[in-house]
Amino acid sequence: MKLGIRSQLSLFSLLLMLVVGSFAGLFLEHQRRNSIEQQIEQELSHYAAAARELVAESKAETVLQFDSLADRLGQATTSRITIIALDGRVLGDSNLTLNEVAAVENHGQRPEVLEALLHGKGIYRRYSTTIETEMLYVAIPFGAPKILGTVRTAKPLAEVDHAISELRLTLIFTGILALLLAILLSGLASHLLTGTLRKLIRHAKSLPAGSSSASDDIELLAGSFNHLAEELESHITELRRMERDQRQFIANASHELRTPVAVIRANAETLLDGAIKDEVMGPKLLQALDRNAGRLTLILADLLDLARIDAKQTHLEVTNLHLPEYVTRAVETLEALAQQRAIKININLEQTSSLRADPQALQQILLNLIENAIKYAPPAGSVEIKSQRQADRMLITVKDSGPGIPESCRKKVFQRFYRVDNGRSREVGGTGLGLSIVKALVEAMQGEVGVEAVEPTGALFWVSLPVS
Ligand code: ADP
Repeated sequence: MKLGIRSQLSLFSLLLMLVVGSFAGLFLEHQRRNSIEQQIEQELSHYAAAARELVAESKAETVLQFDSLADRLGQATTSRITIIALDGRVLGDSNLTLNEVAAVENHGQRPEVLEALLHGKGIYRRYSTTIETEMLYVAIPFGAPKILGTVRTAKPLAEVDHAISELRLTLIFTGILALLLAILLSGLASHLLTGTLRKLIRHAKSLPAGSSSASDDIELLAGSFNHLAEELESHITELRRMERDQRQFIANASHELRTPVAVIRANAETLLDGAIKDEVMGPKLLQALDRNAGRLTLILADLLDLARIDAKQTHLEVTNLHLPEYVTRAVETLEALAQQRAIKININLEQTSSLRADPQALQQILLNLIENAIKYAPPAGSVEIKSQRQADRMLITVKDSGPGIPESCRKKVFQRFYRVDNGRSREVGGTGLGLSIVKALVEAMQGEVGVEAVEPTGALFWVSLPVS
């Protein structure tokens, strides 16, 4: 069974209180016991000192006299007083009758007595076999200058136990009170805390209010934060990738623009320097200038298209379109180019081919793919345009009999400025941006694009878009 955070917190504070409370109780008990015992010891020392004086002054000689003196002293001090002769004989004891005194065993070997005779004072705590209880004894010698014996005072330690059990009772009572208060407070605190936690979890998971039913809030919170961290990490990776791509793109674009701009400047300068009057060089330089200006225009137009698609400024209006119309129009536009290169174009479309796309975007896609096919096919080669419905998708293919695209380059040809063969691309007037525009447009319309190889040679570009 898993406990919720509130129960966990309450249980924890309860355990903490019990542990702290028990230790504090044990410590207090120990302190208290020590201090009471010390107090009793001091009391007994004072009584013993007073008793010594009285015994010495009493001039008692018989057991009867000593015992009655012990009885009186015992009564006055509410402690047990024993008077012991130097040879260990008990002369009097406040707790024993005269007969008992006569029969009691020799006390000469009692440790406190030995200690008193040896060092002037003996303090011992032990079980008294005579009166059968735990006692504290303090003994000191009497008689001066000649020592005649010892007086011993004693008190039962039951007094200490009594004080300790009273202390225990107080501790238990206040402990229970503190516990009740703690339960109340921790309940309140955990209620407030889990409220905040739940709010946090909801934020982290973006869940609607009340939908969290986790049994372990902390685990849930940790899970949410892990999820958040993973999401952040993937966002950061994506951002880094985008940043890298952008840098690469800017470097490529500058590189692409530099050549035509350099040619234009150089030619213009040469013309201004007088070449304009040269009948052979003049027109040649001007033609090159015009060619490069045209190239610059093409690159800028493509870059602008891409920038608009990227910034989602190109508003795509997806509607139901009849594919054959668009293919026919694209082929007509490119007819002159095809004728120039003696390329034969075959069109093989499903007559019901209608799909969902933006008219201008579809036109641009078809123009780019068909133009590439015509440009890269060998002179007198062939291009085939087909359409085929596949479930809820319309598959459009443009196939040529050109060199095709090596497998390692098939993904890269859709990248900006990527060319399989730089020289050939420039020769046919390519900007290296056509296919990246196709890809951006197709994807903006929930479509897919790809390229495959054709046997024995050639490329097959395909586009799939939703059918209407
Ligand atoms: P470009 O303007 O250079 O044609 P694209 O983006 O249209 O630029 O094409 C990128 C590159 O893909 C081209 O440089 C060329 O190397 C290759 N490519 C595109 N279409 C074909 C094709 N039909 N046959 C062979 N290679 C092609």
